[in-house]
Amino acid sequence: MNILVINCGSSSIKYQLFEIKKKVPLAKGLIEEIGKVNSFQTHWIGKRIIKKKGKIVHYQQGLERILDFLTDKDNGLIKDTSEISAVGHRVVHGGEKYFEPILINDKVMETIRSYIFLAPLHNYPNLMGIEAARSLLAGVPQVAVFDTAFHQTLSPKVFLYALPYEYYEKYRIRRYGFHGTSHRYVAYEAAKILKKPLKDLRIITCHLGNGCSIAAIDKGKSIDTSMGFTPLEGLVMGTRCGDIDAAAVLFLMRKEKLEINQMDNILNKQSGLLGISGLSNDLREIQREAQKGNQRAKLALEIFIYRVKKYIGAYSAILGGLDVLVFTAGIGENQPHVRSRICQGLGFLEIYLDERENKTPSKSARLISAETSPGKILVIPTNEEAIIAHETWQVVRRLVAR
Ligand code: ADP
Repeated sequence: MNILVINCGSSSIKYQLFEIKKKVPLAKGLIEEIGKVNSFQTHWIGKRIIKKKGKIVHYQQGLERILDFLTDKDNGLIKDTSEISAVGHRVVHGGEKYFEPILINDKVMETIRSYIFLAPLHNYPNLMGIEAARSLLAGVPQVAVFDTAFHQTLSPKVFLYALPYEYYEKYRIRRYGFHGTSHRYVAYEAAKILKKPLKDLRIITCHLGNGCSIAAIDKGKSIDTSMGFTPLEGLVMGTRCGDIDAAAVLFLMRKEKLEINQMDNILNKQSGLLGISGLSNDLREIQREAQKGNQRAKLALEIFIYRVKKYIGAYSAILGGLDVLVFTAGIGENQPHVRSRICQGLGFLEIYLDERENKTPSKSARLISAETSPGKILVIPTNEEAIIAHETWQVVRRLVAR
């Protein structure tokens, strides 16, 4: 049973092909610069990398190239597209409608379309990907897995901003939260690893990658999360500023006579680790430079860590204590130094890191809290595409069973 996972960005398509019983994809790849003069294709099968170049005008053509590659007589993995049993689409915004993954039909398409105004850079390409897949793989069930869905359990006191209420009514301005697929997955895995029912656990999940967010999970439900109306709010990220006084944005726009798009670019693309350090959005480079004594790199690291810790404190308060702290994504999984500094001084929550376990390199899920620590700390690798494949299969399986 093969599931194709598609993630369409503003000019790219990422894909992974999974055999549902295996966690590692059979093949994965990326098409970049769709619509530009030269589009680049990169495909991985095991350790083999195949690169191609050539103009790809739109998403449908991009998906055609992917299917050509997967069914290629020499390099391909499947005889023909009938070996694809379902397609899972990453869809960023499910608005206030979707709490879980859903089988796509015309009505679902319409709803996703109606949320384009909330996430134009994401939902539009997501929709293009769905249209392409529905046309090229007619009859194959397609499932939408939403980034926002897991956080739809937030209560109004958590999701509403203190703006005039009419703007919520008019434009649905509120906290939505993102990275939901990842937060949900690592929380469920944490319960499995600890052999405890989710309903007994107060969990904080830290998804620290290029984009960073943190979630408070009570009895398996997301009760708060740091990303808001868009993925800009909350933690310091690679290039996004996270929390900021909105008045500072207005001040800057006035002083520098900035257009909306310029300000948008500053907040989303030029801030965060990159903005503070002036060096890079990549934490590895920031760390290298900080070790060499670069003050701005040190500062970027400090601010990054401080913000995560501040949220852990806030979320522990709303959870009424903390049983499990989970780290995931690029930084969360691979940066023991950052984890260590975030966990320093969390003794007041009865949560203690085992420094040796923390430093032991591993690619698997693992416990890194001290044996005697009442609160547990875990590193759990996330793989959003594998989770989307799994969730797609859950929806399709229900369909088959009917
Ligand atoms: P994205 O949010 O784009 O999926 P990732 O989850 O890959 O990003 O996270 C990117 C961040 O994780 C970068 O700051 C990078 O420095 C860090 N990172 C990724 N892989 C490693 C690694 N193997 N060792 C140390 N840091 C890593």
